[in-house]
Amino acid sequence: MLTIDGSYGEGGGQILRTALALSAVLDRPVLIDKIRAGRRNPGLQAQHLAGVKALAEITRAEVEGATTGSISLRFVPTQIAHGAYRWDVGTAGAISLVLQAILVPLAFASAASHIAITGGTHVPWSPPFPYVEQILLPTLQGMGLRVSLRLERWGFYPKGGGMVEGTIEASNLQPLTLTRRGSLTEVVGLSAVAGLPIGIVERQRERALARLNSLGVPCRIETSSVQAQSRGTVLFLLIKCEGGRAGFSSLGERGKPAERVSDEACDQLLAHLEREGVADPYLADQLLLPMALAPGSSSMTTTRVTEHLLTNRWVVEQFLPGRVRVEGGVGEPGRVTVEGAGR
Ligand code: ATP
Repeated sequence: MLTIDGSYGEGGGQILRTALALSAVLDRPVLIDKIRAGRRNPGLQAQHLAGVKALAEITRAEVEGATTGSISLRFVPTQIAHGAYRWDVGTAGAISLVLQAILVPLAFASAASHIAITGGTHVPWSPPFPYVEQILLPTLQGMGLRVSLRLERWGFYPKGGGMVEGTIEASNLQPLTLTRRGSLTEVVGLSAVAGLPIGIVERQRERALARLNSLGVPCRIETSSVQAQSRGTVLFLLIKCEGGRAGFSSLGERGKPAERVSDEACDQLLAHLEREGVADPYLADQLLLPMALAPGSSSMTTTRVTEHLLTNRWVVEQFLPGRVRVEGGVGEPGRVTVEGAGR
């Protein structure tokens, strides 16, 4: 059985999700140990466990160690089964990270699946739902993945309670080339608030418009006041270029002025545009798994090589040696080439 060191590199939950998704699609049992060993709260936490349980259910896997705090997990998948699935993270843990574990494997089932996941939809350290909907999904659809998702309820930290529903059809993955950015054509965004004065979304929006004005392209930012169990604010900005999209977001928190929320997203966006590369630093690590499982050569450029990307490469290489090349050091622009395995 393949053993994966869960403390390698960045040592976070993504090692687990990528390893289990590869195990499921390539039909290779796996033992992951030292799970999140370097973290303040090591082992499987609610959000990771939700991903493990979801993958175990869709692959009818035999699993040992799927409990809170567990630092070792044995996972033996049998088959990828389509179905109607409902999962609840049980906390404000990110729905998008559960999606990160199951989206690609479910595309390898023999028919369509319907999913409904409850948890956090706009929570720190994870893709907020607009990023999934407007950056990740269109890119995966460009790789042949037939998926649609919709936000049924918003969920902020600490209560969560958000819900995402959708359909993933049996798909034939195709390789992707994402290497030429071309000119910037447009910036679009969303400034939203739950349970807080609408003036906050206006301030987030105004600051962003003022800072992005110098880009010289149309910039549209919608505003919205939504219902959610916990209060929260978010600013999501998307840049459209001739050769691809990138997304940047920031969340409000107590004591953080609306202008600072705006600045955090704008700083990331402007730093991205100052450099060469198509994929934003988040998309780069998230595309490695589908690229590794699509048949043939994929490549992308990114404005920043991250520890996440390098750690994810290492995980893919444990299953598929010699398939992934990353040029560029951490923090620098980079180029990724992947010889996908297909299935
Ligand atoms: P841990 O709790 O151990 O840190 P985790 O399971 O919460 O692990 P990571 O391993 O840190 O998560 O992976 C986080 C994932 O979320 C990565 O794929 C990263 O690219 C993505 N991500 C984080 N922040 C954003 C963001 N603002 N926009 C888009 N994607 C994001």
